[in-house]
Amino acid sequence: MKVIVIGGGAAGLMAAVTAARDNRVTVLERAPRVGRKLAVTGNGRCNLTNLNMGVEHYHGEDPEFVIPALRRFGVGDTLELFRRMGLITVAEASGRVYPHSDQAGSVVDVLRLQAADLGVELRCEFFAHEIRPENGGFRVMSDTEELFADRVIVAAGGAAGGNVGGSEAGYTLLARLGHTRTRLYPSLVQLRTDNSFTRPLKGVRADGRVEIISRGRTVAAGEGEIQFTDYGISGPAVFDVSRAAVTAGECSARLDLLRDVGLSELTDMLRARLESSLTAENLLTGTVHNKIGRTVVTRLGYPLAMPVAKLTEEDIGRVARAVKSTELKVTGSMGMNGAQVTAGGIRTGEVDPETMESRLAPGLFICGEVLDVDGDCGGYNLQWAWSSGRLAGRLGGV
Ligand SMILES: Cc1cc2nc3c(=O)[nH]c(=O)nc-3n(C[C@H](O)[C@H](O)[C@H](O)COP(=O)(O)OP(=O)(O)OC[C@H]3O[C@@H](n4cnc5c(N)ncnc54)[C@H](O)[C@@H]3O)c2cc1C
Repeated sequence: MKVIVIGGGAAGLMAAVTAARDNRVTVLERAPRVGRKLAVTGNGRCNLTNLNMGVEHYHGEDPEFVIPALRRFGVGDTLELFRRMGLITVAEASGRVYPHSDQAGSVVDVLRLQAADLGVELRCEFFAHEIRPENGGFRVMSDTEELFADRVIVAAGGAAGGNVGGSEAGYTLLARLGHTRTRLYPSLVQLRTDNSFTRPLKGVRADGRVEIISRGRTVAAGEGEIQFTDYGISGPAVFDVSRAAVTAGECSARLDLLRDVGLSELTDMLRARLESSLTAENLLTGTVHNKIGRTVVTRLGYPLAMPVAKLTEEDIGRVARAVKSTELKVTGSMGMNGAQVTAGGIRTGEVDPETMESRLAPGLFICGEVLDVDGDCGGYNLQWAWSSGRLAGRLGGV
């Protein structure tokens, strides 16, 4: 059969090398090269999956939609397939898996070489703007060309990461076939907050805990690295809660910048300094990053040169509480362009989870981020691309 894959990203390349075993496959990619987004994932290292896999790491109208794909082509299958393609991987203690080369480009390369080996035709700078069912197959059209295929796989990705190819093109393409989508919003995204606390700390990283507080309730919590920026907060712990922050409406981020030490223990440690010759500048020295220490005390109104001996028990309590619980108003996010993944997408109820075949256009398969599936930070989004791409590439077979 002649198969067209629309989108040469993670899911599309996986679908192409799968379908190419028994079919003639052409990948249509609008960009000048395939795997553009894949090549920048994981800060250039590509966190391609996670050993701690489970449906609880996925979101969308129906998170359970991912179960058949993860069962039929899970983490072990993915790593084995990549190894057969020549990619050696390393798992970190956290379960995150990276290529041994530490280069995301290696992942793109092994997929590209495998595709070439299997005779997959890669047509770059081909923007597919319409798919028309015809004679039991499909006509795929660009502005200047029309191609015919017996089966089509749409792997056009989501709207996140506009500067590396994210767009709404896939949703538009599928809408023309009657597919509908849920609301789109950015996920795994940096948060904009009241920046009077974060701006002086620009570039500083802390190991901490972030809670999103909405209407007096904690609606999400994340632990790990927090990065401070000009406009707010970033880093893996923030990405973990960003979906909740973006959807919560009015909310704030509560930071615990010393998560392994309890409030009373910290208070006792600081109280022991009351009789020292230290100044406020060094009250928190040794507990948190020096810049965080100075920012906390200044923000509470204590001059850095003030002798610690002049502080009261109450002052010490205030400082300790600020380290354990600083609340910043969330004012927004860095938007779709700054996001790693799109929450929302083509309604999964319109797609068969066992095969990824469209329920509206038989013979057409949909995979990857264009669907209403988004995963947590840590390799879950690429695993979704691999699992759903693999299933789509089987074209309804086993
Ligand atoms: C900066 C960044 C870092 C990330 N890091 C990680 C990470 O470490 N781990 C992880 O799991 N996830 C990560 N992600 C998310 C992950 O990259 C995506 O979820 C994944 O790439 C989605 O795969 P996809 O194939 O569905 O879409 P994409 O990889 O986006 O591929 C879709 C392709 O389709 C093409 N296309 C779209 N429309 C058309 C059309 N009409 N005609 C022709 N071509 C078209 C696009 O140009 C694109 O190349 C990151 C994302 C970003 C932005």
